Amino acid sequence: MSNVKADMETSLLVLGAGPGGYTAAFRAADLGVQTLLVEQYPRLGGVCLNVGCIPSKALLHAARVISDSREAGAFGITFGEPVIDLDKLRGWKNRLLEQLTGGLKGLARKRKVHILQGHGEFVSGHLIRVSTEDGEKLVGFEQAIIAVGSRPVQLPGCPEDPRIITSTGALELPDIPRRLLVIGGGIIGLEMATVYHELGSRVSIVEMLDSLVAGADPDLVKPLLQRVKKQYENIYIGTRVQTIRPVAEGLVVSFEGEGVPTVDTFDRVLVAVGRRPNGNLMGAEQAGIKVTEQGFIPVDRQQRTNQAHIFAIGDVVGPPMLAHKAVHEGKVAAEVVAGQKSSFETRVIPSVAYTDPEIAWVGMTEQEATASGINYGKGVFPWAASGRSLSLGRNEGITKLLFNEETGQLIGAGIVGPNAGDLIAEAALAIEMGCDAEDLALTIHPHPTLSETLAFAAEAFSGTITDLYLPKKQGHGLNPEP
Ligand code: NAD
Repeated sequence: MSNVKADMETSLLVLGAGPGGYTAAFRAADLGVQTLLVEQYPRLGGVCLNVGCIPSKALLHAARVISDSREAGAFGITFGEPVIDLDKLRGWKNRLLEQLTGGLKGLARKRKVHILQGHGEFVSGHLIRVSTEDGEKLVGFEQAIIAVGSRPVQLPGCPEDPRIITSTGALELPDIPRRLLVIGGGIIGLEMATVYHELGSRVSIVEMLDSLVAGADPDLVKPLLQRVKKQYENIYIGTRVQTIRPVAEGLVVSFEGEGVPTVDTFDRVLVAVGRRPNGNLMGAEQAGIKVTEQGFIPVDRQQRTNQAHIFAIGDVVGPPMLAHKAVHEGKVAAEVVAGQKSSFETRVIPSVAYTDPEIAWVGMTEQEATASGINYGKGVFPWAASGRSLSLGRNEGITKLLFNEETGQLIGAGIVGPNAGDLIAEAALAIEMGCDAEDLALTIHPHPTLSETLAFAAEAFSGTITDLYLPKKQGHGLNPEP
């Protein structure tokens, strides 16, 4: 320890109170470790709770209500055009966030996790300086968990203009722009496009790669693409934005791509081109912590950095930048801090785009399976044959399961359709448990539910399905002849 005197001491310092950080702090406290949680914002919960997962899901729910009511016309129930009270919608979303962040404060209090509000910067390997409203506080710590997350990537050369926003600005619901350009056809861009389209904006999307949601298999993205093509003004793929020029009438955007206009003018531009880690923003070098040029902190399977008493979790340790990964890593780090032999050993991490329809995938995608050269087989069940899906007025969904032909085990799953994000959890469990097609097919799924589509896809692989007629397949019968 340096000879600078600390204002306070703690056994464990957790830096950052997003889902990873608060989970780590709570788990450590539950294991009897004296814990201090340092967070720069007044509210706990980080990006996820305040400006990410939760507010976006609230607004996506509102969007779904609007689209469902519009589509009910197809089965004879017609509503008038929605009247949108933006202040009320914003107020509802904000109250929800207050309820959740307030709940976290209560959970911290019950566990005697102390919270210090302010920006923290390491001074040395066992000391951090926290800039609080009451001035600087030096905190000495024995061990630390860094959970400082990530921030949106800015477009290079993008001008400063209040009409150019990131997901944070979009979730504040400043207004309903007449014409909105979304730059980036990834998860954030598409979720926000869903919300603003239903609120009444004319939405255009520009994506530099050749597909939307590039991480998912194209057959799963297709139903989403077909739906949004009818809804959105323009979808430009394989296209780059060259410049954005703010003028009084709007934002003049120039494009570079095949068959796209060279310029167009929008009322707002949402930049959703990825997130970058915050590893370079908290004086890590003063504590001797290795940080990559991009800002990631390398860790081992116990979440230890190169400094054995300092751990890191969540977005700052690398992709995928997902709250559920951070939470899991937070528990591992806290348990190792408390002396347990935990490590991050999960096989798979599910991904979900909460678009309409939702796209969810876990384990290997088919593109990855093909590229890896693994001998795989697939079972696909189209939801057009699902009574439950049709009764929801939707027929475009697909459930696809990939099996290793040598071991028979499930290695990947992809689902597109309403509630795909909830359904994918069964496939994640099945992969973790080493299940084969028989395990899924012989598990009785409740009828009529969308969950049946997982069992049907397993049956399609095995050749035992009766809800579809598939040409006879050799070698996968559930009850082969002796
Ligand atoms: P992303 O990486 O998922 O998508 C960004 C997209 O922007 C990519 O398709 C990329 O090709 C494109 N792009 C980059 N530069 C461009 C340019 N100049 N012009 C046009 N297109 C360009 O990033 P995101 O959507 O911003 O999300 C950030 C992170 O947050 C991701 O890791 C994501 O997984 C995570 N996230 C997850 C969820 C969820 O789980 N539902 C929701 C939101 C965000």
